[in-house]
Amino acid sequence: MQLYDEETRLEALYRLNLLDTAPSESFDRITRMASQIFDLPIAAVSLTDRDRQWFKSRIGVDHQSIPRDKAPCAQVAETASTLLIPDLQADSCYSSSLLAEQGVRFYAGVSLTTRDGHSLGALCVLGMVPRDASEREMAALDDLGKMVMSQIELQHAVGRLDPLSGLPNRTQFLDDLADLGRERPGERRLAALVDLARHEQVSNSLRVLGADYLDRIVRHAADAISGALGRGRTAYHVAATQFAFIAPPGVHEDDYVATVQQVFNRLREASKDRFAMSASLGLTPFIAGVTQPATVLRTAHSAAQEARSSPTMLSVYSAAADIAHQRRFRLLNDFASALEQEGQLSLVFQPRVDLETGRCIGAEALLRWQHPELGAISPAEFIPTVEQTTLAGPLTRWVLDMALAQAARWRAAGLDLRVSVNISAANLEDAGFAQQVQLQILKHRTRPEWLELEVTESAVMGNMAQASDLLGTLVEGGVHVAIDDFGTGHSSLAYLQKLPGRILKIDQAFIRDVTRGEREQTLVRSMVSLAHDLGYRVVAEGIETAEARDWLVAHGCDEGQGYFLGRPMSAEAFDTWLTATLAESNEVQAAA
Ligand code: C2E
Ligand code: MG
Ligand code: MG
Repeated sequence: MQLYDEETRLEALYRLNLLDTAPSESFDRITRMASQIFDLPIAAVSLTDRDRQWFKSRIGVDHQSIPRDKAPCAQVAETASTLLIPDLQADSCYSSSLLAEQGVRFYAGVSLTTRDGHSLGALCVLGMVPRDASEREMAALDDLGKMVMSQIELQHAVGRLDPLSGLPNRTQFLDDLADLGRERPGERRLAALVDLARHEQVSNSLRVLGADYLDRIVRHAADAISGALGRGRTAYHVAATQFAFIAPPGVHEDDYVATVQQVFNRLREASKDRFAMSASLGLTPFIAGVTQPATVLRTAHSAAQEARSSPTMLSVYSAAADIAHQRRFRLLNDFASALEQEGQLSLVFQPRVDLETGRCIGAEALLRWQHPELGAISPAEFIPTVEQTTLAGPLTRWVLDMALAQAARWRAAGLDLRVSVNISAANLEDAGFAQQVQLQILKHRTRPEWLELEVTESAVMGNMAQASDLLGTLVEGGVHVAIDDFGTGHSSLAYLQKLPGRILKIDQAFIRDVTRGEREQTLVRSMVSLAHDLGYRVVAEGIETAEARDWLVAHGCDEGQGYFLGRPMSAEAFDTWLTATLAESNEVQAAA
């Protein structure tokens, strides 16, 4: 006889997610047949919960559930065997039950038993007069009970198998991890996640090649991964283009990483499609029964994302990288609301100075973010993340709006200052960007030549042709364009010639040490003369000392920016600073 354990039985029931679900014709059909075979008015698929009998399907019963206490179906569930009561009123156990009180006399119920031997409840028929049941009737009821179980298993599988790959899905992966935790608590194991492609890659290929193409790739990948794992090991299809699996027990982490790496290299070589070749793989160690299943999935996913920046495309979960990732994710999430709410984002302005005369000729607008909980976040941290998302457009729009409003205020105050705004690679890929800039200029009643847009070399290199078209349109319209951080990207003379911009900002890395080393001096000297030869005005970024400024003046650099000349300041502080420097230079002129 099987040992009866109510908790395990309940767990088996809960895992099927049947309780409190909607009625379903596939169950009702079976219940109707049971009632017809017995020619009885009442029949039900009755599931035994902790303290109630809940009816998945019912005929002739008004209630959705009844108390479990003294319900014959509960006895069926507890014993996992058939129960026949010809007359409830004559039965010592049930003569005082709720059913008997309501006039029910006859009961027959068969157990709804899972493959693992747990009884979920009963398929039962009830009558208002005492009677017996023939062997044929009971055999039929037994068959119908088994049909109910097939239906339950089928429904359960439908929610657990991915229809495209036929592999068990994320729900199953999480459940299997939970089972593993119960069966082998404390065991150290490894889980892996294969990510076929980056999100943008997926949406691009969907757009260009269609859903069928993607389906085919995913099916191929599912076959390849299942094949590589071999018999007896399960691959799970955990998201549209992601698969997971659990390493066998007892493997050594390093050995397993090496094996998996080899297998995936072979799969990549064997495959012709770009997707499988750019698959990344994340591994995460976990402790069965201790690490939450959802955490296993999340950390494996984090490792797979981290793997994207590794040459091997494989990475083992690291808590440090994960914290960094979570912070990036949070900043990204919060940036959207920062754009909408007032008070989190602001601009500071850093003076741009004509080196020969010392006169301030403009200012670079730099974004500042005061996060309500995390405090001040540096643009060097959040901008590279935000730039890679669809928020790149709204970010630049916001900055342009504020910067142009400031430019208009300066002009109104009689100040001849140009404002510089940094733009991202994503802006250059946006076909409507040039028009948007022109509209914003109009909206603020400013003139195109009061605005300068700064682009980095790498932003331009991404899509040279499109970028130079777009910048060309802006330059024709009168907007200035500057190449920012020159010297840090893949500087190429060929591309410099193709770009419409005529201002070049030498990156601060070169300026910082310009008074120190021979090499730095040679570099900056040749950058300046090369830029001049190509018709650029040259701006030095990051001037921190008087020596650096003097050296740059002596070597023909046109403009400068840096802490020595003026720090980035709020608009008000900038005005005060400007008044002070103007007064100072007037004094100098008067003295001369
Ligand atoms: P960037 O465009 O090259 O801006 C110059 C950065 O150098 C600014 O840093 C500025 O504060 C800093 N800096 C200026 N003078 C000196 C100096 O003498 N010494 C040193 N050590 N640093 C100096 P910040 O404001 O932290 O901005 C960093 C980068 O973030 C910017 O580099 C730019 O690439 C980006 N960024 C800032 N605001 C925006 C924006 O509104 N839009 C976009 N797309 N990017 C922005
Ligand atoms: Mg800049
Ligand atoms: Mg720069």
